[in-house]
Amino acid sequence: MQTEKLIESGRKVLMNTYNRYPLVLAKGKGTRVWDVDGREYLDFVTGFAVTSLGHGHPQVIKAMEEQLGCFVHTSNAFWLEKQIELARKLTEISFADKVFFCNSGAEANEAALKLGRKFARLHGGESKTRIVSLNNSFHGRTFGALTATGQRKYQKDFEPLVPGFDYVDNNDGEALRSVINENTAAVILEPIQGEGGVYPVSSAFMKLTRELCDAFGALLIFDEIQCGLGRTGHLFAYEMGDVVPDIMTLAKALGNGIPIGAMLATDQVADAFQPGDHASTFGGNPLVTAAGCAVLDVMTAPGFLEEVRVKGAYLKSALQKLADERWDNAPVRGEGLMLGVTVGDTAPGIVEACRKRGLLINCVGGTVLRFLPPLTVSWEELDEAIEVIHNHGL
Ligand SMILES: *Cc1c(COP(=O)(O)O)cnc(C)c1O
Repeated sequence: MQTEKLIESGRKVLMNTYNRYPLVLAKGKGTRVWDVDGREYLDFVTGFAVTSLGHGHPQVIKAMEEQLGCFVHTSNAFWLEKQIELARKLTEISFADKVFFCNSGAEANEAALKLGRKFARLHGGESKTRIVSLNNSFHGRTFGALTATGQRKYQKDFEPLVPGFDYVDNNDGEALRSVINENTAAVILEPIQGEGGVYPVSSAFMKLTRELCDAFGALLIFDEIQCGLGRTGHLFAYEMGDVVPDIMTLAKALGNGIPIGAMLATDQVADAFQPGDHASTFGGNPLVTAAGCAVLDVMTAPGFLEEVRVKGAYLKSALQKLADERWDNAPVRGEGLMLGVTVGDTAPGIVEACRKRGLLINCVGGTVLRFLPPLTVSWEELDEAIEVIHNHGL
């Protein structure tokens, strides 16, 4: 058994920042992964909505191999062909006109918060600096993103945080009205809260947020790092409603596992950034943007998203049936292949039982089961997973 030995040596040399499952994964193909002792699993975690096209997607590998043969990095001091191509694709498929590339979700949100404050300063003066975010949100671990993350458990040991943030509960219109004012630079929210437990923002709250942002000259930032890029069966979650943001952040699935983040904005907003305002050494390098281009080509192919919606509805109704029988009719939340259900304290035990039967899922907040299969999951794999969850306790 390799597993125990590796975990033991890992404990000695890796900082203790993760509660890891006792599993050492060695390789993957499509929806399946294998551990170092040769056990096979269905991967319904996908590195938290990162490997959305499954492991080793041939089109992504081919694009990267071609790029490896040219070069992987030069510098943003030069114009980069693949970076231009990926930005062009992203602006063609979204509301946005301009893109800034970085390397992770937290960095994309840092860029969004900086752009939001710069724009507000230019158009509203020195005191227009405040940012509103939602309780139970997740925006990343760097100081700006951590401050935006409305969860005290992640913040409390790292104070002082970045000044100028206000928090309101998801879908609490009254609270939003009471904090937003002429000093608000931006509101940041996830259209569907991911790490918080798959909680969608209601369309009424979304509309109110847009109205209040417009009334007070504040920007609306959508963090679509988890719910964007096909996860909901739509390219972007905002497409499901009538509200369009001014800024949107992406990361996770954009490189199918290659680290890349992006911050998108309309021309009017993006114009606030001038040379020297923001930068990233690795951001948008040729290798990661080549991967990103291939990912978008796959996701925008005819029929791709439609199939995600059909499969998502199938998995959701199977899970709802289970929830009706076992979990007090708890409603299964989410859209497409981003699903969650609150099952209570038994959640970690269910995750473990599923793992022992060859299915990787995860639980958030100790009580919510979250399902994030690859968007390329097959019908057979869906049935196999449903069967495992159904039999987990037997
Ligand atoms: C994962 C996540 C982040 C942070 O991304 P990192 O790449 O881990 O920095 C930010 N926002 C949301 C909604 C996320 O799911």
